[in-house]
Amino acid sequence: MNRKIITKKYNHLFFDLDNTLWDFSYDAKKTFEKLISKYNLLAKIDSNNPDLFLQAYKKHNLQLWEEYKKEEITKEHLSLERFRRPLSDFGCQDKSFAKKLSEDYIETLSGFVTLFPETISILDYLKPKYNLHAITNGFEEVQIKKLMISGLNKYFSCIITSEMAEVRKPDKAIYDFSLSKAGATSGECLMIGDDPESDIEGASAAGIDQCWLKLNETDNCIDATYVICSLGELKGFL
Ligand SMILES: [Mg+2]
Repeated sequence: MNRKIITKKYNHLFFDLDNTLWDFSYDAKKTFEKLISKYNLLAKIDSNNPDLFLQAYKKHNLQLWEEYKKEEITKEHLSLERFRRPLSDFGCQDKSFAKKLSEDYIETLSGFVTLFPETISILDYLKPKYNLHAITNGFEEVQIKKLMISGLNKYFSCIITSEMAEVRKPDKAIYDFSLSKAGATSGECLMIGDDPESDIEGASAAGIDQCWLKLNETDNCIDATYVICSLGELKGFL
């Protein structure tokens, strides 16, 4: 963890959700396993290896999310294309099946919430000391349902989604929108998240201090106000 020599007093903490407070990657994997079995997907794409389809999905999904973050494509386009393209890679041109998978993916994913081991204890520790808020690029209907199911909604004064702000992280405008919603100034805020671009560069551009949650040992170090490897390390300076 980096620590500033003079510890700053923050009043507002903003948290990212996916892969910061809950294990999105694990929940997405479980969702895929359920869909592959439910729709007998491997027979449809004439494959016996679910990982190959998953790899193709991830490749297209990543590329589409980059376009979505830059506001080049709509949520609807992203939702459909991330299934239509990998299916097409495997020779399946059934667009209505892609649409069905896309809708069921959102529905199923909303029902899985695997919190990180320290999520509840750190929020219980921070809640009496700070105003806590969430900022997410995730689809609103998924994130709101996950917050309700997990009980995390009770910790946050403001929950800001990119759909609500009509702009996505890392755009500075979503941070300005969040400051205004929370009634806060940038100097009294800290953004905590796992994504170097969306969470760290975005907050930095808005003049907000940043805490990078470095999930993998092998990730390159980036320039953030603080770097932590687990949420429990927040207690060291907050
Ligand atoms: Mg994240």
